[in-house]
Amino acid sequence: MICKPDAVERGLVGEILRRFEQKGLKLVAAELRHLDTELLSRHYAEHVGKPFYNELVAFMSRSPAMTMVLEGPDDTFAIVRSLMGLTNPAVSPPGTIRGDLGTVMTENLVHGSDSNESAEREIGIFFPELAAE
Ligand code: ATP
Ligand code: MG
Repeated sequence: MICKPDAVERGLVGEILRRFEQKGLKLVAAELRHLDTELLSRHYAEHVGKPFYNELVAFMSRSPAMTMVLEGPDDTFAIVRSLMGLTNPAVSPPGTIRGDLGTVMTENLVHGSDSNESAEREIGIFFPELAAE
């Protein structure tokens, strides 16, 4: 998962990680880094060319993001996604990260892999040393 630039700017990385840790997931890798457009075009390959893509990349590259790997039981990606809430914070239920902490679409605080295959692919992009294990 990624704490997006808005989460780092607002000092919410601890609050977000606390929720995942209290749920029972284990932090196994983390790096604060600036995501450039080339890296983002690989990460968000499915969205290249969509109407919101340029705005998404401008936002994701404006300041550092906190990239993390969380470990848990089978289908941990689904646990992470359920704690995150819906893509649009404005309609994401209270109790979720996006529902509790955000108000607008692009600045939705967190990214989470949407399948086991996505998680494997994204770990390969951001933490290649883990993927090789
Ligand atoms: P993420 O991949 O960042 O975890 P997600 O899986 O909930 O979010 P995606 O459909 O993968 O949502 O979209 C990626 C990001 O692109 C969203 O987090 C959001 O910031 C932006 N986005 C998606 N759809 C739209 C849209 N219709 N209009 C504006 N921005 C959008
Ligand atoms: Mg997505």
